[in-house]
Amino acid sequence: MHDNLGLPGPVPGPAAAIRLVWVYPDLLSTYGDRGNLLVLVRRAGLRGMAVEVAGVNSDQQVPGDGDIYLLGGGEDLPQVLAARRLRADGGLAAAASRGAVIFAVCAGYQIIGAEFAGAEGEAVPGLGLLDIRSSRGEQRAVGEITAEVDPGLGVPRLTGFENHQGVTWRGPAARPLAAVLDGVGNGDGTEGAYGGRVIGTYLHGPALVRNPGLADLLLGWVAGPLPPVDPRQEELVRQLRTERLASRGATA
Ligand code: GLN
Repeated sequence: MHDNLGLPGPVPGPAAAIRLVWVYPDLLSTYGDRGNLLVLVRRAGLRGMAVEVAGVNSDQQVPGDGDIYLLGGGEDLPQVLAARRLRADGGLAAAASRGAVIFAVCAGYQIIGAEFAGAEGEAVPGLGLLDIRSSRGEQRAVGEITAEVDPGLGVPRLTGFENHQGVTWRGPAARPLAAVLDGVGNGDGTEGAYGGRVIGTYLHGPALVRNPGLADLLLGWVAGPLPPVDPRQEELVRQLRTERLASRGATA
């Protein structure tokens, strides 16, 4: 039967590569936050998914057509500079309005909110991509943190390292990413925030290395349901999570 006139059916081409954009590594990349990028590349690769990586320094334009944007932590002055340049650039805001995934850590988390505290404690405007605002807290939060993720996200308990002075409040359009079990996080018993596909967190570690479930959440938002990873590939991170969580009296 020649219901297609004998012509071959559509040949599936290679799946489109997931475009990862690492925003301002020259200003925002403390505590090994580049590991977040490496883990996304690795976990996509374990599923046979192609990725393209663009590292965009602060003197370059942020492309508006990425799938996942990563922002790391930073010192106070580079953080203010990064916010100023990102506001002028407009690429990240354009990506967010297209529904791109944004994952921002610490200084990056504060920058994507409405405002944060600069080097002298002054209010600095952020990008307004997540309904949060941050200011300077009474004392610096430094140390291990563990937190229970919003059950709606289906991500196992978080483990990470925090080092920040900022405290963060949510407006009605943002939900807490997690409830703190041990540590400080936002300063009100919650940790991080999300709204749509924009997520911010105070967790270094790096966060996606210690919490591959969070990495898979981001990849799944772009690529749809993901096949599981061979458990043999997860053994090291399983040991790391068990050890880090046990150091704070928690289980994985
Ligand atoms: N400067 C911000 C604060 O102290 C962010 C610090 C960081 O990224 N580690 O709150």
